Amino acid sequence: MNLLVCAACGRRLGEPLRLLPVLPERPERTRGPNPDGSRHAPSTVPRGTYAIDPEPSGAPYVPHPDPEWCGAALPGVAVADPDGPGFLVCAGPRDTLVVHPEDTRGFLEPNPASTEIGCCGPPGQQGPNRVCPGCGAEVATMFADCSGPYETHFLPDAVRVVADTE
Ligand SMILES: [Zn+2]
Repeated sequence: MNLLVCAACGRRLGEPLRLLPVLPERPERTRGPNPDGSRHAPSTVPRGTYAIDPEPSGAPYVPHPDPEWCGAALPGVAVADPDGPGFLVCAGPRDTLVVHPEDTRGFLEPNPASTEIGCCGPPGQQGPNRVCPGCGAEVATMFADCSGPYETHFLPDAVRVVADTE
């Protein structure tokens, strides 16, 4: 098992995790609320695992050069360009580390600089919305709104993977 730790201060940032060989397919959305009343999608990765996302993830989202293009800025979610005729495309970092949001509960804090408001949770459209409680470094973006995926993406440069020797 591995632990993700803050690259800046070394603080542990989640439960022990096992690396999956590939990022799983994003699960079908369920209709209606989850048993706990939340409405987010099923998590892309199971509890206790993480996977590398080879695709760009998270902010910034930039206008697609083709105004006729109509694709998704984040998985399953198309975002119209507020300043132009087309849609936004993701230009965030590749190789983010995708974990189950519940595996970071109690290990991360909301980014006090983040003001984004979602329907049911943070949409993850305005940059890293989770910080290291030890040093305040922006380390991850949590996607938990009902319209998109349910994933927490660690920035590849903000964390280190260490062996869990316990
Ligand atoms: Zn830190």
